[in-house]
Amino acid sequence: MSATLIKGKPIADRIRAEVAEEVAQLGHIGLVTVLVGDDPASEVYIRLKHKAATEAGFDARDIRLPGEITQDELLARVRELNADDEVDAILVQLPLPKHLDEAVVIRAIAPLKDVDGLHPFNAGQLFLGRPTLVGATPLGVLAMLHEHRIELDGARAVVIGRSDIVGKPMAHLLMQANATVTICHSHTRDLQRHTLDADVLVAAVGVPTMVSPDMVKTGGVVIDVGINRTEAGLVGDVDPGAAEVAAHLTPVPGGVGPMTIACLLQNAVRCARYRRGEVSYPG
Ligand code: NAP
Repeated sequence: MSATLIKGKPIADRIRAEVAEEVAQLGHIGLVTVLVGDDPASEVYIRLKHKAATEAGFDARDIRLPGEITQDELLARVRELNADDEVDAILVQLPLPKHLDEAVVIRAIAPLKDVDGLHPFNAGQLFLGRPTLVGATPLGVLAMLHEHRIELDGARAVVIGRSDIVGKPMAHLLMQANATVTICHSHTRDLQRHTLDADVLVAAVGVPTMVSPDMVKTGGVVIDVGINRTEAGLVGDVDPGAAEVAAHLTPVPGGVGPMTIACLLQNAVRCARYRRGEVSYPG
């Protein structure tokens, strides 16, 4: 078998074009990113997000703060952005430097400007199955599955990874789509036993090519969220040899990555609609 590749770029390009039309209709949407310190990977992500946002017509503001900023100073900046009427969506790039408490900073963001869906209110809404802001990466994965008409109702889905930004929201979205979901993590015993059962396998681990072909169900769908910088270049969490076993596989690069950016822009439009009262918040 040679898997059909689920490429993110064509779907992402379409979403970005739709978003650009929405931005033009709404007139002005302010998207602010906050980068603290100079983590090189975060710099790359911020640059890509800004390029996409600017191309789509957003008023995109790129706030850079020194790595030595204190917790109180950062919280004050977040509160300023909450109060700024020109700002619809706020993204604080993670990870923050070690001396800052991420949970407290995320909690300080006004929930309806929380474009990453990380505020406990939005995370709680997702937990309860209510419409809300949900992280762009899991939303992007879901859009890819829908685009390729992958049946989720009744499917066995396995998510490897339980981070707040990918694994947990991903598992909730799959459950909402009526899949039977198993969440695996670093303490999971006999991971392969779980993955071999997966009609849909989502790997969000951060360990290069850790999902080997013999961990993949024949004819399964494999979504590789991983982005790992190695000497061989960017690689995913899934060994590309899985394409010989799976029916569908996302490539790295060019798979989930472009979808994350497109869905982030979609989320920023959603924030703007919430603030303008066009969509009720909470839904
Ligand atoms: P993270 O916060 O480090 O979480 C990794 C998860 O994987 C944790 O839940 C961890 O378990 C689990 N894990 C680690 N080693 C494992 C192992 N050997 N077996 C099973 N589970 C294991 O990472 P993240 O932020 O979710 O990101 C995961 C990957 O996705 C990274 O490569 C990241 O770069 C990539 N990513 C890509 C995009 C995109 O747009 N494509 C967006 C976000 C992230 P514990 O909870 O037990 O520690």
